[in-house]
Amino acid sequence: MATATTASVIRTLHRIQRQLTDLRSQLAAGPKQISIQSKRLQNVETERLDLAATLKKARKHADEKQLLLRSSEAKITDLETKRNTAKANREYQLLGEQIDADKMAIKVLEDEILEALERVDEITNQQPTATDNVKKFTDALEQLKKQIQKEAARLEEEMSRVLSKLEEVESELAVETREVYQRVVKHKGEDGMASSEGGCCGGCHQQLTGKMLSQLMAGNVAMCRSCGRLLYESETNS
Ligand SMILES: [Zn+2]
Repeated sequence: MATATTASVIRTLHRIQRQLTDLRSQLAAGPKQISIQSKRLQNVETERLDLAATLKKARKHADEKQLLLRSSEAKITDLETKRNTAKANREYQLLGEQIDADKMAIKVLEDEILEALERVDEITNQQPTATDNVKKFTDALEQLKKQIQKEAARLEEEMSRVLSKLEEVESELAVETREVYQRVVKHKGEDGMASSEGGCCGGCHQQLTGKMLSQLMAGNVAMCRSCGRLLYESETNS
């Protein structure tokens, strides 16, 4: 094989820079996934805590109603004692009416207590699922972290392999071309280079001049006047 032309070196560098971009985005994807999964865990944990708070409130509500029931029952016992010792008929009758009214109120209260206890049961029954969800999402996050850590190690290894290849290939460039290359890469990364496509810049599709085309044909590089990309002849043409 003949000595590599500037174009073929730049072409290789462009491919390596694309690999690096890809590796960097793969590396960045891991923490994003972890953040999404952490958010999910946070949500189910909030659900579990909300449910616990709702249960506490429902129990308190049921307790209060039961307390009220006991004091109402005590009041009735009290009224019945008074009625049994009533001297006047009128007093006896009034106390009887009061007792009947209180007994009606107690029936309503008993229904309310039943409802409140049913609500407590209902929430209690939801608790195992809420707890399971927290466990499930905690495990999933742990699993994901391990997997991403392993993947990151592989990607870092690949990255250092590609970086040393990059350095090696960069050293093949003549000093002046290397400076231009380094400048475009510094500003635009892999997007600082493009192949020519049908006499146009492969990046911005600007028509290239005859002089630029002959430069490219000779295996050199050219700079797109429109977008500033470092251009090289695409592989099929050189
Ligand atoms: Zn261009």
